[in-house]
Amino acid sequence: MEASGVAAFPARHGECRSCSTFCDKLIEPRDCLVMRCPYLWSYVDGPSGRRYMGCVQKVFRAEIDIAGFEAAERNGGFGGIKMTGEPLPQCQFRVEPAFAGDGPSHTCLNPSFFDINDPAELDLRTGLPLAG
Ligand code: SF4
Repeated sequence: MEASGVAAFPARHGECRSCSTFCDKLIEPRDCLVMRCPYLWSYVDGPSGRRYMGCVQKVFRAEIDIAGFEAAERNGGFGGIKMTGEPLPQCQFRVEPAFAGDGPSHTCLNPSFFDINDPAELDLRTGLPLAG
């Protein structure tokens, strides 16, 4: 917390906190595989023999256990994973709202967030006092 008593949270890639809906961008690793993205890495862990995959560009930071991913894909789909880095034009994503609601506090103030090349990283958390 800053001396003013106001928390400063930097805006993060893949997040918009401009209204009370709190949206996050989710990357679909299935799409990375389907398009054979050259930035999708995979390796076999020697001791365990388990296979992992991830994004060289760190558009998503998680390292995905491929056996778990394949099992999830056979049972309805792995789904999305939080975008944590700057996306490239080919990155497929969807926007997931955290809180549903009506009224002005839930009216989207940042429609460009739904574009993959959105330059704006608005964040209303900046300047808000911390709870507690
Ligand atoms: S650069 Fe984009 S499409 Fe390629 S692996 Fe990373 S997230 Fe997937």
